[in-house]
This record gives sequence, C-alpha cells and structure tokens, in this order.
Amino acid sequence: MSNPSLLILPGDGIGPEVMAEVRKVIDWFGAKRDLAFDVSEDLVGGCAYDAHGTPLTDATMARAQEVDAVLLGAVGGPKYDQLDFSVKPERGLLRLRKEMDLYANLRPAQCFDALAEFSSLKPEVVGGLDIMIIRELTSGVYFGEPRGIVREGNERVGINTQRYTESEIARVARSAFELARKRDNKVCSMEKANVMESGVLWRDVVQEIHDAEYPDVELSHMYADAGAMQLTRWPKQFDVIVTDNLFGDLLSDLAAMLTGSLGMLPSASLGAPMANGRPKALYEPVHGSAPDIAGQGKANPIACILSFAMALRYSFDAGDEAQRLESAVNAVLADGLRTADLLGQEGVEPVTTAQMGDAILAKL
Ligand code: ATP
Ligand code: MG
Repeated sequence: MSNPSLLILPGDGIGPEVMAEVRKVIDWFGAKRDLAFDVSEDLVGGCAYDAHGTPLTDATMARAQEVDAVLLGAVGGPKYDQLDFSVKPERGLLRLRKEMDLYANLRPAQCFDALAEFSSLKPEVVGGLDIMIIRELTSGVYFGEPRGIVREGNERVGINTQRYTESEIARVARSAFELARKRDNKVCSMEKANVMESGVLWRDVVQEIHDAEYPDVELSHMYADAGAMQLTRWPKQFDVIVTDNLFGDLLSDLAAMLTGSLGMLPSASLGAPMANGRPKALYEPVHGSAPDIAGQGKANPIACILSFAMALRYSFDAGDEAQRLESAVNAVLADGLRTADLLGQEGVEPVTTAQMGDAILAKL
C-alpha cells in the first residue's frame, strides 16, 4: 500500500516559517513512528501570484483534489493589497474551499494547562478543556436568496435569507457524529428552533440522522443563545457542538478565545468522504499571514503544528499519534517556553519559531 499523501501549501508571510517547523514534525513521524507521508509542496496566495499570475494554478487545484489532506500556512500581505480582486491571495484559499466543497469547519477549543491563565475565565473552568465546534460553512444566511438592499416606500430594507436544505443539514450532522465517535461520543446541536423554521428543520434532521445512523452517540439539542451562555459558564460539559454558518461563526470565535492566543489555534475544513472513506480535508491555523512579524523568527508555530495533529486524527486515523504531538506541545509549554505572542510580563525571554519547533521535537 502506498503512503498517505499530503499537499503542503505554506503560502505567504509567516506561513513558510511556521510550516518549516511542521515539516520537522512530519519527518519525525516518518522516521520514528513508521508513519511516512508522500509530501508534495506547492504555492498558494501571493507567492503563487508572483510566480504564475494567479493565486492558485489549476495544477495545484487538481493536486489538492487528489491528496488525502491539504495543510496550508497562511496567505496574503500588504504587498498584494492593490491587486485586482480576482487575483488577490485570499481568492486562492476561497477557491480551494469552494471546489473541494468543504462544508464542515472544525474549530477546537483546547486549553493547555500552562496557558489557562490566558483565559478570561477561571483556570478551573477552562483547565483541560477540549471541545470541538463544527460550523456549517457553505450555506445558511450568508448565501441564501433573496438578498439585497431594496427600497420600500421612502426607506431602504436590508434582506438576507436563512435557508437550509435537508441534505445540507444531514451531511454536516454526519461529520459531527463521525467526529464524536473519535472523541467523547457526544454531540450537542445548536439552533433557534423556537423562532426559526430553518432551526426546526435543523433539529429534526440532526435527530433523524442520529436515530438512523448514529444511535450510539449521545445527542442533545440546545438553543444557540443558551449555548453561548453555557459555553462561558461551564464549557467542559460539551464535546462536539454542531451548528449553522452564522451561529457557528459567533460560537467558534467565542469558544476559541476561552483558551488563549491566536498563535495556538488550529482548524480543519472537511468535505464529503472520498473513495477511500476519508473526508476531503484542508487543515490550517486560524491566524493569518501576520505581516507585522513575518521574517523575524517570532511567529508561534504551534497553531500550524496542532493543525497537523488534527490531520493525523481526522484524515489518517492516527489519534494516538495526534495525542502524542499534543502532549509534546503541552510539555514544552509546561516547561515555560514561550514565543513572543504568549508573553505578557516583562523579564521572560521569548524563544524563536525554530526554537519552539525544536523543543517540541525534543519532547516527541
Ligand atoms: P488575515 O486577514 O489573514 O486573517 P489578520 O490581520 O486578521 O490576517 P493575523 O495575520 O492572524 O490577522 O495577525 C493578527 C495579529 O496576531 C498580528 O499582530 C500578528 O502578528 C499576530 N499573530 C498571528 N499569528 C501569529 C502567530 N502564529 N504567532 C505570533 N503572532 C501571531
Ligand atoms: Mg483575520
């Protein structure tokens, strides 16, 4: 059998810097854990525009459709701000998401013990927190028609339409149940069925998929406003939360900030299962290209490294190895190592991007 395939797209700004640390980790798994990947690397974003006049070539797009997983750094930067909209770096990323039809956006909120102090909540509320928000990413009020600003009499009216089809709800529900089975086997679905028809359908379809296909997973339903409250009151009651595009936008940002810095946050976007049963998948840190610190060795590589851990768990059935990597990150933080973004107080010397990567390798 051939090795699992991985397409690496470092992108712009700090993207290549943090990805260099991930490459060390990938090579370690190949050498030490008998978990070798067929890695290919390509351009996306501003660097692709510089080389080819487009932020994503057709060849790169085709490769992304073939591989088991794509790992992306970040795209964009001030150098490209004046470009025409059609060739902006971000368009490369949008094309990837759209053509791969990545409808389930996974944003974990995971709190490493050593960083519990960073949270606005009490350490006992967030310490050891490990939950996953799944946001439906390709439908809902951001895309529903009709939309627009129209005139009615002598005033303007802004219109958006929340619209979900049964199949759109069913497929993201399946993503949630599949994930739950690899975690604590618990899903909470959030909508506002008390005031929205799409919410009524959402609740019904999630329940139907559960009863027919995933009766072993524990399922609960919550109104999204109550969910926001519960997330800040006692987030550890949740495992997987599945919700629509708009509520997911809000709740995933809320949940992420329960746990600390942008430099720590990974994400995954998953699509339909491929022939081999694995979902189409794109993994990337939540942060952007951070032009203000690019090229200075200051970037925190952990968000990108944890994105690779998500790939291990969700694309490569290597949950134990993902855990191993996350434990190494935890251990390095517990030792007190901090990149500049993780430092509040004076007096502690920050480590560089490469020092952080090497320390994580040493722990592995
Ligand atoms: P985008 O529009 O691409 O999301 P942005 O301007 O919203 O970009 P980032 O590029 O993520 O956001 O940067 C926001 C701030 O966070 C910047 O000050 C940046 O230096 C900091 N930052 C982002 N990622 C990291 C990281 N990995 N390590 C350290 N600092 C980071
Ligand atoms: Mg941003």
